Amino acid sequence: MSEFSLIAVIRERCAVAREDVRLGIGDDAALLVVPAGHQLVVSTDTLVAGVHFPASATAGDIGWKSLAVNLSDLAAMGATPAWATLALTLPKPDRRWIEEFSDGFAALAREFKLALVGGDTTQGPLSMTVTVHGFVPDGAALLRSGARVGDGIFVTGSLGDAAGGLRRLQVSDDEKSVASTSHSSEFLLQRLHRPPPRIAQGLQLRGRARSCIDVSDGLVADLGHICDASGVGAEINVDELPSSAALLATFDRDERRSLQLGGGDDYELCFTAPSSDASLVLGDLARSGCAATRIGRIVEGSGVHVVDGEGHPVAVPQKGFEHFRA
Ligand code: ADP
Ligand code: MG
Repeated sequence: MSEFSLIAVIRERCAVAREDVRLGIGDDAALLVVPAGHQLVVSTDTLVAGVHFPASATAGDIGWKSLAVNLSDLAAMGATPAWATLALTLPKPDRRWIEEFSDGFAALAREFKLALVGGDTTQGPLSMTVTVHGFVPDGAALLRSGARVGDGIFVTGSLGDAAGGLRRLQVSDDEKSVASTSHSSEFLLQRLHRPPPRIAQGLQLRGRARSCIDVSDGLVADLGHICDASGVGAEINVDELPSSAALLATFDRDERRSLQLGGGDDYELCFTAPSSDASLVLGDLARSGCAATRIGRIVEGSGVHVVDGEGHPVAVPQKGFEHFRA
């Protein structure tokens, strides 16, 4: 299979028509039109085999996740997705693999009417870099830097599921049969492999949230970025963190806390909003199909402080994932 027939497969399977794409895949570059009164929002993420997806992930899962993690960054900015480019490095030109990868990618691209407008295809160890482009009305983007003392802190969906799924993959088969039902494990693995980007929720939060980030490296690490960028501290109650039924059924309290505070890959939105707006914001999000939960408040100072329901400090078990950690 040649480089060009590979590109043809990707192009055909990921086809999404958009008016604002004047020239897509096929020339030296794409020609795109940004709507008047809007800013272009651009983000890039790379996935590397063995680092960002486990050996058990299917090609379809990898295609989905490579786009999902990028869309999650647009969601955190309050942006509407429009276009993507895909730089793909493959060990060998495997038609079946590329078809399944494309179908996983295309499932999300169609859902969000996102057009794949170009990319690059090379040979080497499996990895992929996706760049997404979206729009926000001038000045309406959600930033990390807007949190203020007194804001409530909120998170969409549930936390710890993806890290719980990864933990399930790492334990022996013996332990698995004792520790949880296969139904719970399947749910957690689905959350790991096919995270749903919270685009609709990011749009709802425009003009309402004061700050926002997506939880990719772990709640404490990512909320810490809001604190640093805003010059404030955060206090969260570990007993308020939203837990899925599958997480509750699979892990004991301490394991759960560790997964929810330090585990990555959830791709939920963590945001702050004035406490007086809380019921309005929560109502809007519930109607958008993904409820959010209040988990704490912004305080003076710096850093993320974790307490339990009785106000006792809780040790933060691990830091978020970092490449090049010494
Ligand atoms: P060039 O050599 O001019 O950089 P390529 O031969 O690499 O062009 O690519 C040909 C066309 O196919 C370009 O429009 C490019 O954007 C697109 N393309 C290449 N690889 C991919 C890919 N993995 N996904 C989407 N489009 C791709
Ligand atoms: Mg060229």
